[in-house]
Amino acid sequence: MTQKTALVCGAGGFIGGHLVKRLKAEGFWVRGVDLKFNEHAETRADDFAIGDLREQDFVRRVIDRPFDEVYQLAADMGGAGYIFTGENDADIMHNSATINLNVLDACHKRNIKRVFYSSSACMYPEHNQLDPDNPNCAEDSAYPANPDSEYGWEKLFSERLYLAYNRNHGMQCRVARYHNIFGPEGTWEGGKEKAPAAMCRKVAMAKDGGKIEVWGDGKQTRSFLFVDECIEGTVRLLRSDFEGPVNIGSEEMVTINQLAEMVINLSGKDIGIENIPGPLGVRGRNSDNRLIREKLGWEPGLPLRKGMQTTYEWISSEIDKKHNRQKAS
Ligand code: NAD
Repeated sequence: MTQKTALVCGAGGFIGGHLVKRLKAEGFWVRGVDLKFNEHAETRADDFAIGDLREQDFVRRVIDRPFDEVYQLAADMGGAGYIFTGENDADIMHNSATINLNVLDACHKRNIKRVFYSSSACMYPEHNQLDPDNPNCAEDSAYPANPDSEYGWEKLFSERLYLAYNRNHGMQCRVARYHNIFGPEGTWEGGKEKAPAAMCRKVAMAKDGGKIEVWGDGKQTRSFLFVDECIEGTVRLLRSDFEGPVNIGSEEMVTINQLAEMVINLSGKDIGIENIPGPLGVRGRNSDNRLIREKLGWEPGLPLRKGMQTTYEWISSEIDKKHNRQKAS
């Protein structure tokens, strides 16, 4: 049997790094592409090309053969501190849209059929996410569109782009809307980290009896999906007959203060929470998994606490390693 091949765009990133591992475990030959290597783990890809997917020539060079599966995860993104300030809007829209235009067209011209695209729950309309107790993120609530960030608008545009290639060029692209993915080997400091990682870092660094700062009044709600389950949903969707868009997320909704309390509890420390002003995003967001259950007969099931425990342990060990390096130098 010939070995299956996969291309992972954004393989130096958090989800891409985990996806490469999964595909290697399944026996694929994998090419990874990114601006950089992953900071947290050595890549398992058979071939890794460093380069800029905004450049058409580079994209044509890395898509120089048919691949059985292409995963397009590369995007200019970050946590709330990057997406919601407005300062990075032009870059976010230009960079990510250019990547998607280039990769999809190069795949089409190589006669590659199966391309996975990672959209985001950030494309859902703001007006359906004002009530923290009852956010509506059913897939069919996307229109009339009104995302609360340019990042969300670009995702919506690109979703439509992939589906247009299915319609007009006979491709079989698959579109998922990820909801807050977290886990080990993700960014945990520097401003681009998301709430779960930021919470773990703050708690791990706080002294017993101290306090951690949490943005907003702490009553805004979210759900968070552990990365292993995101990968499972991703490969299942790409290999399925359903083109999407479909949510890949958890339905276990918590307030941000509950998330902080969970991490504090996992740490065993006595730590208080101080809610401070900060960039927030929508008031409430939760995955709606009815469609994925129906179409794939599968949905994520790992309790949030289990994923947070694994992540807390990993971030604590990264902080220890960093301290030891600083002491040694
Ligand atoms: P990430 O930032 O860790 O990975 C994205 C990767 O894309 C980075 O390694 C980055 O270097 C690379 N990249 C950016 N611009 C590039 C360019 N011009 N050329 C080549 N590579 C480039 O992010 P992630 O969390 O792994 O997310 C992967 C995908 O999933 C993204 O498309 C993101 O929008 C989407 N998504 C993620 C989440 C989440 O919670 N992590 C939620 C919704 C959607």
